[in-house]
Amino acid sequence: MRTVLVSAEVSPFAKAGGLADVASALPRALNKLGVDVRVVMPKFRGVDAKTSLEEVARFPVTVGKGYEECTVYRGRLPASEVPVFFLGNDHYFDRAQIYGEGGGDYPDALERFVFLSRGALRLQEELDWQVDIIHVNDWHTSLIPTYLKAGLGPRNARSVLTIHNLAYQGVFPREQAGITGLSDELLAPFEHEGKLNLLRGGILQADLLTTVSPSYAEEILISGEGLEGDLRSRRSDLSGILNGVDYTVWNPHTDRHLWANYSTEDMSGKGENKRQLLLELGLDAEGRAPLVGMISRLAEQKGFDLIMASFERMLSLGIRFVLLGTGSPQIEEFFERAAERYPKQVAALITFSEQWAHRIEAASDIFLMPSRFEPCGLNQMYSLRYGTVPVVRATGGLRDTVHEYDPDTGSGNGFTFTDYSAQEMLSALRRAISLYREDQKEWSRLRDRGMREDHSWEASARKYRYLYEEALATRA
Ligand code: ADP
Repeated sequence: MRTVLVSAEVSPFAKAGGLADVASALPRALNKLGVDVRVVMPKFRGVDAKTSLEEVARFPVTVGKGYEECTVYRGRLPASEVPVFFLGNDHYFDRAQIYGEGGGDYPDALERFVFLSRGALRLQEELDWQVDIIHVNDWHTSLIPTYLKAGLGPRNARSVLTIHNLAYQGVFPREQAGITGLSDELLAPFEHEGKLNLLRGGILQADLLTTVSPSYAEEILISGEGLEGDLRSRRSDLSGILNGVDYTVWNPHTDRHLWANYSTEDMSGKGENKRQLLLELGLDAEGRAPLVGMISRLAEQKGFDLIMASFERMLSLGIRFVLLGTGSPQIEEFFERAAERYPKQVAALITFSEQWAHRIEAASDIFLMPSRFEPCGLNQMYSLRYGTVPVVRATGGLRDTVHEYDPDTGSGNGFTFTDYSAQEMLSALRRAISLYREDQKEWSRLRDRGMREDHSWEASARKYRYLYEEALATRA
């Protein structure tokens, strides 16, 4: 089976969130299962420093009424044989950020992703790929299933759309529709509330749909950011496949970003990471206060209003708190202020740092993820492997991966709450902290159980392969 995965983000070349991790780990896992898979993404600034590139094609891509030159380079996903094709156009992609600076998207976002979508299809013709499945991701590549129907790209290919986050739909003024080059008839599925909605068109036109956890797949049929009706109309074509973890990248035993490595056999390194982190960030290292960590886009979705509404109460539980994240200026400012006010108890790293993400996973005792909604969530799974007990709101993928600790049966791998309220969140945190303080043995057992869980990609990649086969079976 020959597949092409197209994504705006692919780790380690360009990453804003979980999409990048999935678009990198899934192809590698598929490749191991014997699926012929290629990846296509934009050639963003700095890509050349991360892989050696070879120019393989040059052609014009239609964008609106004009053409934009596309230079294609081939690289490889690290530690694999999976080829990555980077679509280069400096005007569109040689920019400081992936999507935009200062909050919103770049004003020419539609043009940029029309270029990516049409370019990816043109590339397949240009290099004469006999593709069976085109796997597209989120709104950026949601035009592709329709372009396929319009006769662009490989004939007979089937499309699969994965929704990584329904909150981002790629909504544009109707007047920009000409940029897509599609006829009014083909544009009809993209019409939504008087605007052009790229994700909606993808949902209605892709051959099969997936989202990134079974719970989220159910939740969005009821509350789907305005697209629940459309999703319900495709219910039988929609499935939820949990993302996995790339344990070659997220493994405390081999992780090069850490001060000390550790495993279930010898956990002393975990304590060492905590000591070093507290020291480096100037936090109080006295006593046995639990360190609560967060690594997150600073977005409303992630439950920051709960934290901000109860932050003093949270601190009064006797914790140290470390946050790594960027995003909403108000949230950034809140944590910067908190760190100034409580320099011994709170550290705020307002930046994007792979190294600190790994260090915080290793050093923390508890990982907090009180998301309002969470399609899958990766950090809770990283936390499990790093012996960092997750405290999460039971929604979407968090509900599918974190299960409440039960003192009677000794089962569970974390602490959860259901109502979206600060009180419930604090109560879950309190349960975690009491166990941490009062029963070290039981805490170690809980941690150990989490570390031994297997959330690797293999099982999920098999499900994708099965789904691709299903999509192919619909071919005339
Ligand atoms: P989302 O895709 O909604 O942002 P996920 O939990 O699925 O959430 O994935 C987030 C990914 O981005 C994780 O790999 C996480 O470690 C990473 N991440 C988020 N913010 C930062 C940051 N400031 N620095 C480094 N990594 C980050």
